[in-house]
Amino acid sequence: MTSLDDLPLRDNLRGLEPYGAPQRKVKVALNVNENSHGVPEDVAHDIVRNVAEAILTIHRYPDREFTVLREKLAEYLGHGLTASNMWAANGSNEVTQHVLQAFGGPGRSVLGFPPTYSMHSILAAATGTDWVEGDRDAEFEISPETVVREIERTRPDVVFLCAPNNPTGTPVSLEAIAAAYDATPGMVFVDEAYAEFMPTGTPSALSLLADRPRLMVSRTMSKAFAFAGARVGYLAADPVVTDALRLVRLPYHLSAITQAAAIAALGHSAEMLGMVDEIKAQRDRLIAELPALGYAPWPSQANFVLFGGVNDPHATWQYLLDRDVLVRDLGIPSTLRVSAGTEAETTEFLGALSGADGAAARRS
Ligand code: PMP
Repeated sequence: MTSLDDLPLRDNLRGLEPYGAPQRKVKVALNVNENSHGVPEDVAHDIVRNVAEAILTIHRYPDREFTVLREKLAEYLGHGLTASNMWAANGSNEVTQHVLQAFGGPGRSVLGFPPTYSMHSILAAATGTDWVEGDRDAEFEISPETVVREIERTRPDVVFLCAPNNPTGTPVSLEAIAAAYDATPGMVFVDEAYAEFMPTGTPSALSLLADRPRLMVSRTMSKAFAFAGARVGYLAADPVVTDALRLVRLPYHLSAITQAAAIAALGHSAEMLGMVDEIKAQRDRLIAELPALGYAPWPSQANFVLFGGVNDPHATWQYLLDRDVLVRDLGIPSTLRVSAGTEAETTEFLGALSGADGAAARRS
């Protein structure tokens, strides 16, 4: 049998692991921060109508500029943005890949602040960009002083800030983002995949875009928007940034079906986002109830909670899986991460975890 080592693989990919969130059919899936609430049926029918219409002309390539989609995304984001500010791709993962293809690459580096979203370093490797790691403050925070110090220490070409951060749920202040921008001549990429779950009224990095042409803010329809399976992520930036991204995207990268589905869904934003408050309530419930079970959750502004005090994370992960509850073990010592699901799912998770007493892990 041929092994990977036998192939003439690029040196910088040798020994790496692919993105690896386990995909299992379980009753309570709280492992990849999806929206547990499905798309409302009337919205689903409208999406299907739009997709059916697109299929009537699917013998032609789709609009390479996905113009209508960009208009709808700009409308959704507000902040005075227009289609010319918008970029989109098959998930914000692909948006991130475009960013690194355009602004990273061999001989260049991207600064990230672990623990953070695992795909950031995987995409760095895939694009031949050096991944350099910055230190966070206590409790996973990043102050303006810290971000500036780490940029000055590592002199990266691109700075990645995940706000709120996955897997910790920690926000990044606008002051820290603005300080990062001022401290680097390079690009600053803010991954706001979970922005809709921030406390109401929390400003987004979108409000910093004016007059900052090296700043990019990415979002996704996968989380709050309940559209993970459709694969639509997007980015807002100065129009010149989208010109840069056009240099690296594949022609027609967003299929006519994807564009039609996303456009129809954006026409129902309020309904698609209808469960966000309920998800935030379940997240806050997790934070409130985990301590009584002996675990120590971090505050979170996203739709998941990282909790510590887990003596043997793998054993607890398995214990929960045996009870049809799937959470995420990210290899951070003594922690697990759980997504906020429906009220019933959250109840099942907390019930299963409470039974883990003695069988697996409990804060000693
Ligand atoms: N950014 C962050 C911080 C994420 O957690 C995720 C998904 N887990 C993504 C981006 C990618 O999402 P998608 O490709 O589905 O848009």
